[in-house]
Amino acid sequence: MPDESEMDQATAFVCSACGNYLDEPGRHDCGSAADVDLVHDEERVRSLLSDAATEPGDIRRYEPLLPVETLDGVSLGEGGTALASAPTLGAELGVQLELKLDGSNPTGSTKDRGSSVVVAHALERGDDVVACASTGNAAASLAAYAARSSLSCCLFVPQRAPDAKTVQPLVYGADVLAVDGTYDDAHALCQRVTSESGWLDRSAGATPYTDAGTRTLGYEIAEETESVPDWVVVPMGNGGTLASTWAGLETFADLGLVEGTPRMLGVQAEGTSPIHDAVAGTSSTDATDTCADSIDVGTPQHLEDARDAITASGGTTVTVTDDAITEATATLGRTEGVFVEPACAAAVAGIRRARAAGSIDGGDHVVAVMTGSGLKDTGTARAAVGEPEQVSAATDATAILQRYE
Ligand SMILES: [Zn+2]
Repeated sequence: MPDESEMDQATAFVCSACGNYLDEPGRHDCGSAADVDLVHDEERVRSLLSDAATEPGDIRRYEPLLPVETLDGVSLGEGGTALASAPTLGAELGVQLELKLDGSNPTGSTKDRGSSVVVAHALERGDDVVACASTGNAAASLAAYAARSSLSCCLFVPQRAPDAKTVQPLVYGADVLAVDGTYDDAHALCQRVTSESGWLDRSAGATPYTDAGTRTLGYEIAEETESVPDWVVVPMGNGGTLASTWAGLETFADLGLVEGTPRMLGVQAEGTSPIHDAVAGTSSTDATDTCADSIDVGTPQHLEDARDAITASGGTTVTVTDDAITEATATLGRTEGVFVEPACAAAVAGIRRARAAGSIDGGDHVVAVMTGSGLKDTGTARAAVGEPEQVSAATDATAILQRYE
């Protein structure tokens, strides 16, 4: 641990090889390509956090734990999303269930937490352009924050991304490049462009600023739950959301602000399960085939981080079928009034699977992270619920009322 008195801010990156503070991760001159660690001056953080108790109920409350000076002028009020109890669905699954409704972030997904911090850093660097490859949510999110900060935004998305996810960044004025390939192909192309241009890249695994922002999800869950939950359930594509959520939960325990940490349940789709396969120690292919587009990632950028987080937490992984995802989409809507995109429905289907496998016990306190709004992908939801019934405008009222008797 480096000397905390050398820190300008309460939170900073250090090189995990040479231990020096880094103004810019990836640009340290010790010659190491090692990872960076986010470190906190714990005493200052605790004091700043208690001062921040009156701050707006969004991620600005956690500025002392972020490696940027301020989110002022960048923030759209991301974070501070509701943690809603889900008694009907919980009873059906046999657990005490709470849903972290992150689809109510400004652009409709968890990705806003990372985008806000990345754009704040881009402004600190004096950049003009930011970039991102994404299955859709991160691209739409970055575009909004770039627009607000008058930065140009260059995005790479797979051509199969749902319509809403490409319309959204276009509305925010970004350049949206639909790549004729998979998410992994889009990621590789974005990497070629950003390594040549030096643009800050919000893609999964490209900059630790994204992960620093996503950790706020863990901070919030740690603060909002009355006691430490038994399980926190997160859908996994690249695995970054799960890894960062865990890091946030762990940080709060390390700071002594909560006692203990939950176990992490990582959920993947049966057709695209490289992280699950790595945790289970079974062979894997990079095949991608699921209706849950935002977790359809064959080569996860945070595979090791996610695996380490699951192991460290004493957690586990499960996979779920597309049919189970579709069914869970309708169940969530019908029982709790929550409309999520397929990846989040996968998390709920994963709880059912983990209950059946005996990993999650009956009565356990479970928090499931709902990472994105259902309005992001109405096509897949349509498969779950079908078409509305067509009726004539001249239909007799009693003919309709008979159904409710
Ligand atoms: Zn170094």
